[in-house]
Amino acid sequence: VSLLSVEGLSKSYGGIHAVRSVSFMLQAGEILALIGPNGAGKSTCFDMLNGQNVPDSGRITVMGQETTGRKPREVWRLGVGRTFQITATYPTMTVRENIQVALVSYHRRLFDFWTPMMSIERSEADRLLDLVGMAGYAERPCGELAYGDLKRLELAIAFANQPKLLLMDEPTAGMAPRERVELMRLTARIAREQSIGVLFTEHDMDVVFEHADRILVLNRGSLIAEGSPGEVRANR
Ligand code: ADP
Ligand code: ADP
Repeated sequence: VSLLSVEGLSKSYGGIHAVRSVSFMLQAGEILALIGPNGAGKSTCFDMLNGQNVPDSGRITVMGQETTGRKPREVWRLGVGRTFQITATYPTMTVRENIQVALVSYHRRLFDFWTPMMSIERSEADRLLDLVGMAGYAERPCGELAYGDLKRLELAIAFANQPKLLLMDEPTAGMAPRERVELMRLTARIAREQSIGVLFTEHDMDVVFEHADRILVLNRGSLIAEGSPGEVRANR
């Protein structure tokens, strides 16, 4: 059974077909890029996948469980994580405390009650910081971090939730080219090590060609091409 299966997903706004009968699959450990010009329907697809938008028709299945039309919280509980374009960290708290907050909410998902923050193992937060190469930043307030470091912290926060599928809508927006490549290299390494499937949108084609295993090309709501970076590059 596929990690993610999307069949005939469609969404219209008035007369605008934002997403038209989109179908694709994503396997565990696979890095899939969704590309296309502005207005192609990428965000609409993402929002339907994470439960923030209800499709008109079609079916979304995560590890055999249908998530179509479920609320964001339920989709999250089924193992679908995401990163946010706008940073959602607490600037006056330290880097470690920000991860502890994420761990508290993850534990709430598991046990359905709030575990007091002090009981969350510091070592678990430190393990996550280590994972993204930020071990030395634990005591720093988030508000002092450079933008690229904040993005890495957000990645650690996303992994704190132990997603099976990670949705990243323009994860590298606003970053310098070298930082973009590094962030996606880090994401891809962790995803492959932990068999997490990643679906991401990205405007920087260098990043897409270097890090995606497979690319979906969306145009005016429809998938117009699909293939490996080599195949998509050859057909541009
Ligand atoms: P630019 O020419 O402005 O640098 P690109 O040629 O990289 O832009 O891509 C233009 C848009 O088309 C981008 O949004 C990109 O995601 C999309 N795109 C890239 N490759 C393909 C392709 N093979 N088929 C269709 N659309 C593509
Ligand atoms: P992308 O993320 O690829 O830029 P979007 O999914 O944001 O594309 O948009 C796809 C199309 O749907 C666009 O024509 C956009 O104007 C339209 N659209 C998106 N959201 C809404 C909305 N809430 N109401 C009306 N039209 C929308």
